[in-house]
Amino acid sequence: MKPIIGITMQPVKGAQQLNQRYIESILAAGGVPLCIPNTTPIGAIISRLDGLLVIGGDDIHPKFFDEEPHRALGYVDITRDESDIAAINAALSQQMPLLAICRGAQVLNVALGGSVYQDIPSQLPQTIQHKQASSRATHIHTVHVVAQTKLAAIVHSDSIMTNSFHHQSVKDVAPALIVSATTSDGVIEAIEHPDEPFCVGVQWHPEELHDEASSQLFHAFVEACHH
Ligand code: MN
Repeated sequence: MKPIIGITMQPVKGAQQLNQRYIESILAAGGVPLCIPNTTPIGAIISRLDGLLVIGGDDIHPKFFDEEPHRALGYVDITRDESDIAAINAALSQQMPLLAICRGAQVLNVALGGSVYQDIPSQLPQTIQHKQASSRATHIHTVHVVAQTKLAAIVHSDSIMTNSFHHQSVKDVAPALIVSATTSDGVIEAIEHPDEPFCVGVQWHPEELHDEASSQLFHAFVEACHH
């Protein structure tokens, strides 16, 4: 049986929506995509899934990592943050495979006790471009993959080209997580949980890329969801 992959959604003005590309990527990797709403409690939904995909979106409220709002903080939605954090904790409590993308990777880090840079341009002014003006399928920067990580085993390479659409990034890595990729400026581009069967967060948007590494990432995730 194909595994059922719950995909979180993006709240928009009283509705919730999901970029079609996430659905297509899970389908292409052999999974059954199931849209799950932002809601708490969310444990009853998570327990019925075989895997959890936490999608990208707006900023995380800094109260979840004990900071005041930076002047360049973007739009935040506490209800969504709480739903994502609860979903991540529920999934990890049952060793459920989890793939977290962009904001999802940041929320994964915060859910486990880490923090994020609230605004890369002002807090890390020397970085390369991380909020690209180019199309979503354009590979804009090189991501250096840390050897002997799960990500390295998945993409079979020490560097890949990715897109980049973020003004926040992981700052203090949660105690349970490790860094599995960075850009040349030191910005953290991927994290993972070495003690979980599959718990990977990537700062880029593999669902928008049509390349080998992105396909390998989604296939490895869906494969891990077979139990
Ligand atoms: Mn980037």
